[in-house]
Amino acid sequence: MYLAAVASPRQQVAFPAYFALTSPALRDAARGPLRRALHNGRYCSGVQGSCPCHTCEQWIADLAQAGYDRLRTSLAGNVPQVRNGEPVREMQTIVEWVTSLEATTQDIDTMARLLRGRPSDEEPSGLRAARAQLIRYQLISLEARISRKLAQSRGASARPDRDLMTSAWAAPLRENRVAFNLLVDAILRLRHGSRDLYGFSPEHIEQLNLDHPTARRLLRQTLDHLHALRPEFYLANVFQYLSEGDPLPWTANTPTNPEELLIQTEETQTIRRRLTPLLTTTGSPEHRVLERICAAATNPDPNLIEWAATELNLKPTQAEAQVREWVNQITQADLDWATEQCHP
Ligand SMILES: [Zn+2]
Repeated sequence: MYLAAVASPRQQVAFPAYFALTSPALRDAARGPLRRALHNGRYCSGVQGSCPCHTCEQWIADLAQAGYDRLRTSLAGNVPQVRNGEPVREMQTIVEWVTSLEATTQDIDTMARLLRGRPSDEEPSGLRAARAQLIRYQLISLEARISRKLAQSRGASARPDRDLMTSAWAAPLRENRVAFNLLVDAILRLRHGSRDLYGFSPEHIEQLNLDHPTARRLLRQTLDHLHALRPEFYLANVFQYLSEGDPLPWTANTPTNPEELLIQTEETQTIRRRLTPLLTTTGSPEHRVLERICAAATNPDPNLIEWAATELNLKPTQAEAQVREWVNQITQADLDWATEQCHP
């Protein structure tokens, strides 16, 4: 196939040609953002040879489609314009390149290889323009776009910070300006890939005139408040991010200073008081689930959540939320203590 096929008036010819030309370069360039946005930074697990998983493949196809549409419009004479109304010069260069006489003899796979490779001074200007417009331009803020789309499909809001700042339901949260500031910061950090709720930046804490334990306590209170006000917002914008792809969180945060230890001791007492009736009332569904959770700490139990959903008569997502909450509480209350309580 020759490069000129990209400019064919027939879509059946033009699109496969366009895909052959751009997809190897897109695949390479998108690998990092896709891995970070879809696979927690790990290698795409769908890899078989060099084949990415279905989701990654779909994103690459979508990126190719978007570039193709942009080029088609330009070939039809509607070259996209920059802000001042001038046409994007590089798009014009690409149009001239794929409609030139040489394009009728240039092998498309060779061009695809060059497009994928490093830019060189000798390469045709059309190729350089294609790299800029059909590859790099398509990848601008890809990671953020994927995260936003994922969040939307999970029911999280596209702009959680704006929702918190403007929604009537969130008004009570806005009453404490400092706590609210911590909450918005935490939600944005999660959205941008952090998995540590309390990973405040030292500068931010200093700006708010807080120390770390106080910030932690304030944020925790605000999150509880948010959870009480809007459980579904909490689930979609906080919980889902924390639980993403990880096994049950069987680790307690170790306090790093005396104040934190004090806070943690207080919290342990509160949680133990809350758990005791559930742990000691044998025969209840809650007791059965808690017992099995305790057992799962030493013996992984892949069916735990499914089973808990039936037992507690909850949807799987709700059951998962409940199980994770209990795991957190049990960890904080101390696993050995909880196991002991289960068997009075
Ligand atoms: Zn993948």
